[in-house]
Amino acid sequence: MAEESEFPSENSPFDFLGIDESSVDRFLQEKDRYDRSKQVCICGHAINKHHPVDAEFYCQTARHWCPCRTPTPVLVVSDTRYFMRKTYGSGSRHALSTGLRRLIQLGKKARWLEEPSCWNPECSRTNSKIFPVALNKAGKPAPVPTGNNVFLCETCYLNFSGAPGNEGKGWIW
Ligand SMILES: [Zn+2]
Ligand SMILES: [Zn+2]
Ligand SMILES: [Zn+2]
Repeated sequence: MAEESEFPSENSPFDFLGIDESSVDRFLQEKDRYDRSKQVCICGHAINKHHPVDAEFYCQTARHWCPCRTPTPVLVVSDTRYFMRKTYGSGSRHALSTGLRRLIQLGKKARWLEEPSCWNPECSRTNSKIFPVALNKAGKPAPVPTGNNVFLCETCYLNFSGAPGNEGKGWIW
């Protein structure tokens, strides 16, 4: 009982400070944003798994070597260890999707650095769902890891795949 009266529940230590708990949370969120050890690249691997070599980078996780050459942070996560998978294609088969799924399954947190939208500069569709896609050298979606990973909306994915007009038919999932 003595302990309870020592910490009356109606008072918060913050009551005496000119700040509140939410402003500390805001600071920590902003700090995490720029904490590279918490960022995940569009290729689906931690930013700190990208190592500089000459003027480029190479991306290597414990499990495999990834052709990503330009680390591009898209996610801030509480634990980057689950982002070690290999890309087998677009959407659900992409390493960003499988890593994120594992993270959420384990109750860990993730947040987008920027609200994700289609990366095709010629696309004007807003509010459409987007998919992580690995593009090959010809700019087509590939079933293997590549060095050019992007977010595309379904329409742009279909156009890039040479199959326009197939929206809603499950070409990408
Ligand atoms: Zn990368
Ligand atoms: Zn990678
Ligand atoms: Zn698009």
